[in-house]
Amino acid sequence: MINIQKNIPLAPFTTFKIGGPAKNFVEVGSEDELLEALNYAKENNLEIFVLGGGSNILVNDEGFDGLVIKIQDTRYKIQKDKIEISAGASLSAVVNLAMQNSLSGLEWASGIPGTVGGAIRGNAGIPMGCMANNIESVKVLEVKNKKYKILKNSECRFSYRNSIFKENKDLIIISAVLKLETGDQEEISKKIKEFIENRLKVVHPNPKEPSSGSFFKNPKVDNLQLIANFEKDTGQKSIDGKVPAGWLIDEAGLRGKKIGGAQVSEKHANFVVNIGNAKAQDIVMLSSVIKMKVRDELGVQLSEEIQYVGF
Ligand SMILES: Cc1cc2nc3c(=O)[nH]c(=O)nc-3n(C[C@H](O)[C@H](O)[C@H](O)COP(=O)(O)OP(=O)(O)OC[C@H]3O[C@@H](n4cnc5c(N)ncnc54)[C@H](O)[C@@H]3O)c2cc1C
Repeated sequence: MINIQKNIPLAPFTTFKIGGPAKNFVEVGSEDELLEALNYAKENNLEIFVLGGGSNILVNDEGFDGLVIKIQDTRYKIQKDKIEISAGASLSAVVNLAMQNSLSGLEWASGIPGTVGGAIRGNAGIPMGCMANNIESVKVLEVKNKKYKILKNSECRFSYRNSIFKENKDLIIISAVLKLETGDQEEISKKIKEFIENRLKVVHPNPKEPSSGSFFKNPKVDNLQLIANFEKDTGQKSIDGKVPAGWLIDEAGLRGKKIGGAQVSEKHANFVVNIGNAKAQDIVMLSSVIKMKVRDELGVQLSEEIQYVGF
């Protein structure tokens, strides 16, 4: 039996710690509960928003008028080198589960916040790996006709921070089968530590400055001079003509730029951080300034990696 709650503040459910209330909010721990929640939304003519770990979203200050469905199912099964994992499990829990079972291949995901469902939808990753590399199949529920389907990896249309689940809002991710390799537990554990240490040192802003991870996708750039400047400046190679959004934002002189409680992180310029009671409006205004300046000064159009909710 599900418990529909009213006017639940969403800020605590997001890593940004920003956003107004959900008019209707429900936590679902099983497929039956999810179906019940969807029926409630249909009967009451409510738009739905599926919430995972809230680590890749910006919720409007006005909140969300429909029904927020928080996916809480964390069940799993392990068979040889495969882990079948429900969408509500945290990515870090799966990394640990793999390590405890001497399964290698997911170490790159160490320290990325959020759930398996959110990670699959956005094909979360870093230059050394992404969800698409580990997925064998994904079980989904088609919202309109309430049918379950299993999609093979090739049917998920994974690409850089993209998938069929991002394009088709009718699909809710229920679970996935991850294909890993048997490995040495100590080696796996060592790699996990290294990834987390690197993340804390180089990527993540100060934990007192909440964020939603990388704000913009790394764009493909056709200006060869700009690519050459990036490579000379950083000693890194551009992959597939892409240049990190953080470098472009830095080039546009925006590192540290503040609007209200929002700031371009001093540590990693592609992180917009909440430096104290930021409103969603502050973040939106700052992101507009970033997009405009990067476009005007460098001729590159940035597009958001984060998802807007209730706008
Ligand atoms: C400090 C920090 C570091 C980060 N580093 C990285 C990184 O290195 N690489 C990277 O890729 N990302 C990174 N992120 C972003 C974020 O952690 C990932 O995008 C994560 O996978 C989002 O998962 P989530 O469960 O939090 O999704 P949410 O933020 O809850 O939702 C994101 C989107 O996914 C949808 N969604 C969630 N669950 C489901 C489901 N079951 N079915 C269908 N749709 C669903 C939501 O509706 C929403 O549209 C970082 C974030 C932070 C805060």
